[in-house]
Amino acid sequence: MDTKIILTEKEMPTQWYNIQADLPEPLPPIRHPGTKEPTRLPPPLFARALDEQEFSTERHIDIPEELQEIYKLWRPTPLHRALRLEKALDTPAHIYYKYEGVSPAGSHKLNTSVAQAYYAKKEGCKRLATETGAGQWGSALAMGCAFFGLECKVYMVKVSYHQKPYRRILMETFGATVVPSPSEDTGIGRKILSEDPNSTGSLGIAISEACEDAGSREDSLYSLGSVVNHVLLHQTIVGQEAMKQLEKADVYPDMIVGCIGGGSNFAGVFLPFVKDKISGKKPNMQIIAVEPQACPTVTKGPYTWDFGDVAGMAPIVLMYTLGHSFVPPPVHAGGLRYHGMAPIICHLVKLGFVEARAVYQIPTFEAAVQFARAEGIIPAPEPAHAIRVVIDEALKCKQSGEKKNILLALSGHGHFDLGAYEQYLSGKLEDFEYPKEKVEEALKELPEVPA
Ligand SMILES: *Cc1c(COP(=O)(O)O)cnc(C)c1O
Repeated sequence: MDTKIILTEKEMPTQWYNIQADLPEPLPPIRHPGTKEPTRLPPPLFARALDEQEFSTERHIDIPEELQEIYKLWRPTPLHRALRLEKALDTPAHIYYKYEGVSPAGSHKLNTSVAQAYYAKKEGCKRLATETGAGQWGSALAMGCAFFGLECKVYMVKVSYHQKPYRRILMETFGATVVPSPSEDTGIGRKILSEDPNSTGSLGIAISEACEDAGSREDSLYSLGSVVNHVLLHQTIVGQEAMKQLEKADVYPDMIVGCIGGGSNFAGVFLPFVKDKISGKKPNMQIIAVEPQACPTVTKGPYTWDFGDVAGMAPIVLMYTLGHSFVPPPVHAGGLRYHGMAPIICHLVKLGFVEARAVYQIPTFEAAVQFARAEGIIPAPEPAHAIRVVIDEALKCKQSGEKKNILLALSGHGHFDLGAYEQYLSGKLEDFEYPKEKVEEALKELPEVPA
């Protein structure tokens, strides 16, 4: 058995796969934050091409050739068989992982950032503004902007800004301007700082700042790293590659596992497969989305209408949510601290095609270290959550003797997260319980939407 399956550049997919063509029920509309009526993406903020993709029901959308050339800087990415981990676990299960850490930004996020920079440039935009949690998205967008000669302004969640100086330096090296959020650069930032000068920030606050920035400038567009349909669409190149790679090994996965922050890396992997579950071809395939206990959006949140951001400026969407004003505890998986979840994932959970689980951060790091010592890759804390579940499932296979094929979405490496590993290794990491009262408080502020 080969330890990894490689595709040539000629085998790289040339189209994105759009799940909206194959949903058994269409997605609910998104709604304007003011009028509460169905709406498109806010027009001054997004490139027209992205708005089209957001609502498209075409099954396949061409990847522009110029973009394919950029993808080839790191794509196709490898699919590994985790032979050494399987052996360490003494499991009959076969574990495969699709590794996006080989991208120059260290994660899957570059797949959409270069696409967004491409369309922005094509439509005459000069500058992109965005938010970043752990710094992965900011790094990816900074790089995308550098490739297309655009300016880039990044609002970085303050707790990460201080925990991860190297991410900031990476962004600055690619030419971006980075400020800690909440910042003095926007009205919403100044308001939050005046109420709480010690605010550690949240992804929701940073989104509001970036939207305000881009909305107030003629030369700028806003860019989102997760959650929305067009981002999930761009990530489907990952799952299409994985499918081709597994076909070469004559394998179809029984189980696909990934972490969900906004949902994009995992959706990128499982969407090309889930259509076989929807069509009834693979009814028993399990698709498991993993989130932190400290921010258990899908496992504990209600499925309801909520704003995408803290300030209530972003569209209202139907999703699992902990409330747009919820600020989760500062767990080390910064990319998993969003209050909501991609509507596509929520819709598929609601329809019963995807299940969700929540795990604590100490057992998550235990799994990450076990994975690193077996496979040599130090995973980012986000996909480490998925590794926890993969290891648990592989151990269940050991009990039952089942030889399941498990596909893991390994969204990035953890080379900028070694501070978190240090805390784990020195026994200083703590588990955060589900912050029930704070969630209940936040859920009182849900918007009311006409039936
Ligand atoms: C941002 C990030 C995530 C979480 O975002 P999704 O949109 O849910 O994928 C997960 N893994 C890594 C490595 C990330 O950088």
